[in-house]
Amino acid sequence: MSYRRAVVPTMNNQNPEVTREGITERLVCKADDPATVEEIVHAGFNADSHSGGLAFVSDRRLSIFAYGGSLDYSVDPGNRDDRVAAIEGFWRRQQYKNRPLALADVSDYHRAAIAALEADAAGIDELPAQDRYGVTDIALGNYVYVLLRRRAAEPTADSALRALAADDSLLNLGENDRPPYPCHPCPVCGRLAIGRVWQYLSVCEDCYDKSICENGRPVAGYNESWLGTGFKAVHLDDRSTCEQTTREGRVWIDGIECAIGEAKFGGVYIGVEDTPASSPYGE
Ligand SMILES: [Zn+2]
Ligand SMILES: [Zn+2]
Repeated sequence: MSYRRAVVPTMNNQNPEVTREGITERLVCKADDPATVEEIVHAGFNADSHSGGLAFVSDRRLSIFAYGGSLDYSVDPGNRDDRVAAIEGFWRRQQYKNRPLALADVSDYHRAAIAALEADAAGIDELPAQDRYGVTDIALGNYVYVLLRRRAAEPTADSALRALAADDSLLNLGENDRPPYPCHPCPVCGRLAIGRVWQYLSVCEDCYDKSICENGRPVAGYNESWLGTGFKAVHLDDRSTCEQTTREGRVWIDGIECAIGEAKFGGVYIGVEDTPASSPYGE
């Protein structure tokens, strides 16, 4: 939770549009054998603008793209029945993630986190008592709040409920769970942040996106391999590799020097060295 699972950031940070023409063009361009690119038509899946999408095989791979942006790759099973079964499995998972959730469907902790998100509160503890009804463990409430801030596209209840529907692990966090990490003040800006990687306290979500390299250019780290390991940094202006950041693992956020690198289990962390005296992790 202390880092993001990072893939090569796209130029505009948006998913390319999922259209038959656009995907065919991309797959033909990427395939070892362009002649293998073929759409696997599934009328119901293709027509469902909410949870559906498009499926293709290319080389020996089955790629399923949801109109909403998520995608799934697997080894092409090679026959029509098994391809359709894979598409239908993907479709069901998308329908589940897109199911409507109401405030009444989520726990007191989630409702308080949503109230904090809408109020842009520093923490759950800042809310008036009626907005954090039922929350007895403030640390857990703040943990849910920080994760929700990370997942929700907008600071609104609608957006938060959509993020919760799509993420069972966050939705099921409840009263009897201990937060796996206590929150700490972001070492750059002081907002709530989660996580520690080695001796580094992670920066918050807002700061995570503000890194610049030694030459003052915005940079982002990503994992070199599809497995989410290895570390490289690119300049966001022209996509060139930033040799300095890649080599030294240092960036600056609002003038504060931070460490950046591959997290323990993949992903990319950005943090500032913790001092034992102030550590919330009790070294
Ligand atoms: Zn921050
Ligand atoms: Zn640079």
